[in-house]
Order: sequence, then structure tokens, then C-alpha cells
Amino acid sequence: KDAVEISLKDIDQLAKTSFPLCMRHMLEKLRENHHLKHGGRMQFGLFLKGAGLKLEDALAFWRAEFSQKVGSERFDKEYAYSIRHNYGKEGKRTDYTPYSCQKIISATPGVGDHHGCPYRHFGEENLRAALNKMGISGHPLDDIMDKVKNRHYQLACTMTFEAAHGVSCDTGINHPNQYFSESQKVLKA
Ligand code: SF4
Repeated sequence: KDAVEISLKDIDQLAKTSFPLCMRHMLEKLRENHHLKHGGRMQFGLFLKGAGLKLEDALAFWRAEFSQKVGSERFDKEYAYSIRHNYGKEGKRTDYTPYSCQKIISATPGVGDHHGCPYRHFGEENLRAALNKMGISGHPLDDIMDKVKNRHYQLACTMTFEAAHGVSCDTGINHPNQYFSESQKVLKA
């Protein structure tokens, strides 16, 4: 279990400093569209849970966005259940585990979906632009794109982590929540 606990008001700042690209992308799309399809709600919702977002904050977080699109009544009726479900509060009360990189990379996002792994699922132009936005350019960017071409997506993500944090990450990235906690360790050191 991660010792880190995140609260509602910190999400945007933490996304900038410590979320891996897959999760930064989904937060951006959620803020933009006030909606995420099922695959995104699962991948991003479970990540936030794993990062230490409490159920009450998770409900407030999703409600604030979705109510702008579908209204809060429909949110409470159609979407709140599945969020509680992810926290093990409904249905079979399974405590769902956040997805690993392997699982995310093997997803097959369709049109209008924003889940998946950007290194695997973005086109080259979009990926370059997204990495530029993280402040990565020049040689480090070319090296990352090289790994992507060779289908070494987690390695590309590890190199992004290293370029963004200015440290080496010898263990490599294999889970978005690991990316997050490693980042917090570096930033709080
Ligand atoms: Fe997310 Fe893992 Fe892809 Fe990095 S390698 S963007 S953490 S799924």
C-alpha cells in the first residue's frame, strides 16, 4: 500500500508533477469533456484510488465533472454506483486493483476512448506533442521515440520519468501507481 494520500484539491498539481502520461491525458480529457467512457473511468478511477484518493473525494471529483455534462441527478443514478463498486462498496464488494502497465498497454481503446497507454496508442505526432508539453524535447525525446518504434513502451515511459525528474529509475516503470509513488519519493526527498 502506498503511504501517499491525495486529496481532491491536489489532483491537478500532482498530475503535472507526478502522474504518468496515460493518467495526465485522461485528466485533461475529463476536464475538457466533463466525461470519460467506461474504460477511462476504470483505468483512471482505480489509479486515483491506488494513489490514495478516498471514496468521498472520488465521488466529489467525478460528480463535479460529470454533472456539468449529464447533470448531478443522472450522475448519482448512473455513475456513482460504479465508483463505489470500484472501492468495494457495492456488488460483490471486491476491492479492485489498479491496472498495471501490461494490462493498460494491451487495451484496445476505440473512437472517443482516452484510456490505454499513450506510448502504445497515440500516433507519433500526438505523442511528441504530449511529451513536449511535459517539457521533454531534443535528444531525450528522440531516444524515447526510438524506444516506442521498437515497441518498448514501458522503457519509453521509464525514460520519460527520468527526463522529467532528472534522476535514473533503475527498477523501470511497470505500473502507473509505481510511477506516481517513485515521483513523489523524488520530489519529497
Ligand atoms: Fe501509463 Fe504504464 Fe504506459 Fe507509462 S507505460 S503511460 S505508466 S501505461
